This record gives sequence, structure tokens and C-alpha cells, in this order.
Amino acid sequence: GAGTVGFIGLGTMGREMVLNLLKAGHAVRVSDLRREAMDELVAHGATAADGPAEAAAGADIAITMLPDTPDVEAVVYAAGGLLANPPRGRLVVDMSTISPVAVRRIHADFAARDVAFLDAPVSGGPVGAKNGTLSIMVGGDPEGFARAHPFFGAMGTTITHVGGPGAGQTVKLCNQLVCGINIQAICEAIALGRASGVDLEQLRKVLLGGSAASWMLDRLGPAMIAGDASAGFRIDLMFKDLRLVQEHAQALSVPLPGTALVTSQYVEARAHGEGANGNQALFRVYDRMTNQ
Ligand code: NAD
Repeated sequence: GAGTVGFIGLGTMGREMVLNLLKAGHAVRVSDLRREAMDELVAHGATAADGPAEAAAGADIAITMLPDTPDVEAVVYAAGGLLANPPRGRLVVDMSTISPVAVRRIHADFAARDVAFLDAPVSGGPVGAKNGTLSIMVGGDPEGFARAHPFFGAMGTTITHVGGPGAGQTVKLCNQLVCGINIQAICEAIALGRASGVDLEQLRKVLLGGSAASWMLDRLGPAMIAGDASAGFRIDLMFKDLRLVQEHAQALSVPLPGTALVTSQYVEARAHGEGANGNQALFRVYDRMTNQ
């Protein structure tokens, strides 16, 4: 049946996720620091809330979709935050990509107040968010997962309970290191293909038809070949994720040399002022190396 959702964070991803929750018949109370993001969704049937507490008031579930760990901590721990003002349904779900260590602390703090907390980061990009086809990887207690499932179903198609608190973030970090190294591999193929004078669009099509095929090559390849650096998933956010991967791996003494290399290339991209560009703009690092 339809329920009430308090949704905090209406950016590239959150906006589309709210539209799909509305489409599925849920009532959605929205909150963001940007007033215009709220107004736009009110025009689609959402209700504007003045902060997280008001968004969560009377809701079955509160969902956050924010940039980074400190943003989620602010929304949880502030005086007007979700810990002091949980939704009526006593279920809070963070769908951002943040630190698994922070997640376990937040989970424990909610558990002490008898509120279920899930980490449920997503993969699939803005297009997956728009089409409601996200892959949602969920950590936390099975009871909370079961209650959140109908809401996840409005936003995604692959919905998987992957383990206890923080496990969703761990799986997402594995996802991100594959994405980063894959983008790097495509940049190298384009650099070599370009220098050799082969048709790059044809190169892409051939690779997509064989064992080098990938989501990145399919969705981001055209922009990389065209030199289009515009954002979907920002370089700043990718760098944040790769930093989280490295912190996680170092805490477990797992060496990740491939991730270390591509992370330093994202550092280079940021040093050139490209943090707000899309993550496919790693090709610019290669352009600079090859003096393109
Ligand atoms: P975004 O920056 O476009 O949106 C974040 C929104 O949160 C903004 O509207 C911002 O105003 C709002 N916000 C920030 N702090 C806030 C606060 N304290 N209270 C209320 N609102 C606040 O980011 P995004 O691209 O939508 O990504 C959100 C999360 O999802 C990130 O963790 C990102 O890594 C992850 N993610 C993004 C993509 C993608 O392709 N963009 C894909 C998968 C996962």
C-alpha cells in the first residue's frame, strides 16, 4: 500500500527518486538546503518541509540522499535532526554513499532509540534514478529491510540485502572502484586509438560487441569521445568515493594498487579545477598527458 516518505536531499539523484516515489502513489515530504529544489518537486505533488524533523513528522520512513558523510551526520545529529525526531514508522534509510564506519555508529545510535537504520547506497546513475531501475544494496537488520522494500521497489529493480550495518556501503565501494578503474581503462583505449588515427566511435561499438563491453563504455563512452565533460556524477563525488575505498581498504590492510593510481588521477583532475565536471572527464587528464 501507499505510505508517507520524508525525503531529504533533492539533488541529481534525490529529485528523480522522489518523482518515482510520487508516481508509485506515496506521499512525499521533501527537504533540502536549496529552496528551489523543494519548490520544483512541490509542483509535482510533494509537500515542502522546513528541515529534516518536519520531513520525518508523521512519515513511515525517512530517506536521506546527501553528498557526503558530514552531510548525513548533520541531518541525523543536529537539534532538528532525525535522531531526535525520528519518523513515526521508526525507520530511517540513508541512500547516499558514505563511510561504512560512520554508518555503523549511526546504526547503533538509532538502535539505542529503537529506530531501524539501513545503509542503502545505489548504482545506476541519474538515468537509473530517472527510470526507477537503480541497483540498491542494503545493509542493516532484516526486519527494517522488509519494511523498506516497498519503497525501494519504487526507485530500483535490483534490491539486495547484502548484510548487517555498513555492508551496503562496502558493496557500493567495491562497485565504485570497478567504475573508476573502468573509466581509466577507457581513457587509455581512447588515448591509444586517437593517436593511432582509428575511428573512435567505431572503436567503441566494436568493444561493446566483445569482452571489453561495460556500462561505462556504453553510457559515458560517447561523452568521452566527444570531449564532453558535463556532469551527471561529479568528479568531486567520485573522488570522495575512492577516498572512502582507500580508507576502508587501509583499515583492513588490503592493498588496492589499481584504486590508488586512479585516485591520484582524480586528484590531478581536481587540481585542474574539474571537480564539478562529470567523472568521465578523467579523459582530460589523458588529454594533458598526451598534449591533446
Ligand atoms: P547532489 O550534490 O546533486 O545532491 C545533494 C543534495 O543534497 C543537494 O540538493 C544539496 O542541496 C542537498 N544537501 C546537502 N546538504 C544538505 C543538508 N544538510 N540538508 C538538506 N539537504 C542537503 O548529489 P547526487 O549526485 O544526488 O548524489 C547524492 C549521493 O548519491 C552521493 O553520496 C553520491 O555519491 C551518490 N550517488 C550519486 C550518483 C550520481 O550519478 N549522481 C550515483 C550513485 C550514487
